[in-house]
Amino acid sequence: MKPFALKPTEDAPAHRAGVLLPLRLAGAYDYAMKAPLPRGTLVTAPLGPREYLACVWGDGDGSVAAEKLKSVEPLDGEPRLPPALCDFIDWVARYTLTPPGQVLALALRVPSAFDEEIPRFAFVRGDETPKKMTDARARVLALCEDGLARKVSDYAAEANVTPAVVRGLIDCGTLKEIALPEFRRFPIPDADHAAPVLNAEQQKAANAMVQDVRVGAFAAHLLDGVTGSGKTETYFEAVAEALKRGKQALILLPEIALTVQFLDRFAERFGCRPAEWHSDLSQKERKRTYRAVMNGEARVVVGARSALFLPFKELGLIIADEEHEQAYKQEDGVIYHARDMAVVRARLENCPVVLSSATPSLESYVNAASGRYHWLRLRERHGVAELPEIRLIDLRQEKMDTGTWLSQPLREALAVALGSGEQAMLFLNRRGYAPLTLCQSCGHKMMCRNCSTWLVEHRYHRRLTCHHCGFDMPTPKTCPECQAQNSLIACGPGVERVAEEFASVFPQARMAIASSDTWHGPLETQAAIRAMAKREIDVVIGTQIMAKGHHFPQLTLVGVVDADLGGADGDMRARERTFQLLHQVSGRAGRAEKPGLVLLQTRNPQDAVMKALASGDRDAFYEQERLFRERAATPPFGRLAAVILSGADGETVREIGRQLAKAAPSARGVKVWGPTPAFYHLLRGQTRERLLVQTEKSVDVQSYLRAWLALVKVPNAVRVTVDIDPVSFF
Ligand code: ADP
Ligand code: ZN
Repeated sequence: MKPFALKPTEDAPAHRAGVLLPLRLAGAYDYAMKAPLPRGTLVTAPLGPREYLACVWGDGDGSVAAEKLKSVEPLDGEPRLPPALCDFIDWVARYTLTPPGQVLALALRVPSAFDEEIPRFAFVRGDETPKKMTDARARVLALCEDGLARKVSDYAAEANVTPAVVRGLIDCGTLKEIALPEFRRFPIPDADHAAPVLNAEQQKAANAMVQDVRVGAFAAHLLDGVTGSGKTETYFEAVAEALKRGKQALILLPEIALTVQFLDRFAERFGCRPAEWHSDLSQKERKRTYRAVMNGEARVVVGARSALFLPFKELGLIIADEEHEQAYKQEDGVIYHARDMAVVRARLENCPVVLSSATPSLESYVNAASGRYHWLRLRERHGVAELPEIRLIDLRQEKMDTGTWLSQPLREALAVALGSGEQAMLFLNRRGYAPLTLCQSCGHKMMCRNCSTWLVEHRYHRRLTCHHCGFDMPTPKTCPECQAQNSLIACGPGVERVAEEFASVFPQARMAIASSDTWHGPLETQAAIRAMAKREIDVVIGTQIMAKGHHFPQLTLVGVVDADLGGADGDMRARERTFQLLHQVSGRAGRAEKPGLVLLQTRNPQDAVMKALASGDRDAFYEQERLFRERAATPPFGRLAAVILSGADGETVREIGRQLAKAAPSARGVKVWGPTPAFYHLLRGQTRERLLVQTEKSVDVQSYLRAWLALVKVPNAVRVTVDIDPVSFF
């Protein structure tokens, strides 16, 4: 741009800029501004009848004639998103095939964060001594001794005087007004508050991470340690190093249920809680945290995946804990994998990233084995704790009454553990009472009317619920199909049904159910976790929400009610996922002095997953999986992308699917499959069809998709969603 060549008239714009609005638009729009502003500067931009908080993104592409340009204004103080965040937004948009404005919207979730500070006013001791002294006034002045600023109402309440007394002191200058910052400041974690003595393995791993934080360059580490090996303690050393260097650190956690224990643990190590970032924060807390991250005051942020889009001032380290977790995948809106994007962000920030897990994703395992990631291994549990013994119970050999799910060996083990005052966990990854309600007379299955799923019975509440769309209804007494009376029966167990059986065998034991659904919400789960930690209950019966991260020193027995459950999903990750989940669950047992025992009830004791779990030879299992994937050229040895079509009118959705399949350009190393009905063919009332693109590793799958999707005109009634690197096939 050559401003001197422009001969600006009075109101002609002097500068053109590309401005990105937080909307699903193709790209940045051209606007005019009075003076050039750097990329990332926040502006208010008019569009149609509205004004948006938007962001200067580039020079503009000249697509709008100069005299037609609308003007943008920078915000007061000209706040600006950091350059690395802008680059990150562009990167994520390109990779996920999402309009960049929609990704920007993730980073501008808290528009009020850029508002001017709203100071709070309060009063402290002023210079004047009051002419008249009363008991009431003396009590107020006594309060002032501690130097804290208070509001009139606080003085009145604490000194037990009327507000008029306080105001009188203000009038005579004995109390004076001061402006306080809008928000409490974040405490600064202390790197040396309670540093543990690391064992040799831990120290070696910590040194490697600390070294990279010190250098301040991109490096990826896989912290691969058995459950209870002290991965958290170890990566805390890297966090401590970031603190010492004056850098910020981001710790990503997959599940919000983890945070209470985690935040306390952080506080034990660093003397105060970190800043938090997740969906449960109030708008005010969000504003406070966002600003503190941006100005560098918040040194450590512990957050869910959306924390990746925060405007860190000087990020020095990213940790993704439990990196294999599927919860890192954002499945709607901008579809991205937070673990993979954490690596991207670290590269753009020039800082190290640590992926931590006892059961890494196969992708990370391959990256570590090939040397792309530093492979930091912790092979032993810390201290005296030993890894638990894992035994298979072959359900085909067990005689069990119909409608019961706890085999004799499992019952005996429960009796032993409870008899010696230890705790146990029964694990079943199924919510509710029964996953299926069936009519004995006509075979009718109770299905959701919006989704192609069975309704799950919640017996205590006497309701049938859809776990996808939330539809629910009272459990009927007659079959809606054949009208037979009392013919509906529950098929299969959920946690509630196992709890019922358990209670009938061990009526004295104290137990709780922990599962994430509409009836047993996060609060109940938190309560169960706390009760377990405090030994207020003997047994917890839980779904996967209980499988992860928790540390219960008295828990010695884990019983897996149906170890075969995950294997039925049938996608390429089913075995890996089952292994990870069961391994994590097993890892809850025997984490302190007393040895742990894990019993897996299975009908497939010969299955590779079961054998790997029982033998403890994890790497043999991973090597086998790696071979499968290599032969099938699936990730990480090839690329996958899913195209999901959905809409209310099933026929239109199928027709667009057929057109897309026909239009798919043939290209070397690219295969296109489908359309096929999605696993949940009907979800929330929408018909869903999927196409799958599989390419060789060298193919630019994004370019292929862009070219392909441009070939078919899709009506508004059909929604096209692209999922790069899909992890679920629903
Ligand atoms: P992981 O995350 O690998 O499962 P944790 O970090 O939860 O393991 O550690 C398991 C337990 O061992 C925790 O109670 C932790 O505080 C303790 N621990 C681990 N390493 C040390 C150490 N070096 N010194 C003291 N306690 C440790
Ligand atoms: Zn439903």
